[in-house]
Amino acid sequence: MRCLILIIDGKALASDIEVEVRERVERLGFNPGLATILVGENPASQMYLRIKHAACERVGIRSENIMLPGDTDEGTLIKTIMELNGREDVHAILLQLPLPGHLDPRRAMMAIAPEKDADGFHPENMGALLLGAERLVPCTPRGIIYALERLGVKIEGAEAVIVGHSNVVGKPLAAMLLNRNATVQVCHVYTKDLREHTRDAEILVVAAGVPRLIKADMVRDGAYVFDVGINKVDGKTVGDVDFDAVKEKAAGITPVPGGVGPLTVAMLMSQTVMAAELSLERRRS
Ligand code: NAD
Repeated sequence: MRCLILIIDGKALASDIEVEVRERVERLGFNPGLATILVGENPASQMYLRIKHAACERVGIRSENIMLPGDTDEGTLIKTIMELNGREDVHAILLQLPLPGHLDPRRAMMAIAPEKDADGFHPENMGALLLGAERLVPCTPRGIIYALERLGVKIEGAEAVIVGHSNVVGKPLAAMLLNRNATVQVCHVYTKDLREHTRDAEILVVAAGVPRLIKADMVRDGAYVFDVGINKVDGKTVGDVDFDAVKEKAAGITPVPGGVGPLTVAMLMSQTVMAAELSLERRRS
């Protein structure tokens, strides 16, 4: 008998996170500040930033966007970040990726003060995550963990498979699942037989950026499937999972759009408030 499928509503979960974030802002007694930096005029980045700033507005985060021209040199970008590091009213900094090709995202990320690292990409935060001391961590993995916990999916002992080993999603998510005692397989473009791995998954997360990479025969019955991919096909936004076919097998599945994306934005709000909470703790101690 087939189990009942659940379309995991990222927007509804995100709005629950926003309620909780607004309460934390009230408890802080001041409006946390998020500064975003955009280098160049990538239209997708501009759209993501509009969505992030609108969310800030809803939860009581004071946000500002610093726009730098596409030909900005590394020295100017680092100087901009350093200025934000020194500002007391800026609690969190987000450098919107991708950067233009002449800029090294790793060097720029390392300039962000670890305690203001909204995206959790700084090596100090990544290192802490790997050691099991999660603080500011990448927002997409945190959103997926939140959804699993809210859905009551048992992570401990679960077979988890991640497709994609990026620094943004795959690697930090693997660490977060291991911290919760899942058994984790991480696949990528060099994996020999993807299906061999994905069919094991009770929790399957796909972040490859390949439209409809995951077909129904690659998914275990009753799996929870998180589709991180955002791809444009014939003007439509689609994920990395063949949603219509896979939903017939999954116990739960995120749609694209309306799944992992809103969770990621909500977690950015949560992390900005966390950075403000940590700064308050530091001032008090
Ligand atoms: P990336 O683009 O840096 O890397 C892609 C990963 O997928 C690599 O590990 C690569 O080896 C793997 N891969 C590529 N083709 C594959 C294949 N045919 N089989 C198996 N593995 C394959 O990854 P990213 O930055 O994590 O982005 C992945 C996707 O997720 C993109 O579509 C991106 O837009 C999307 N994304 C969405 C959110 C969100 O909030 N929803 C957040 C981050 C990224």
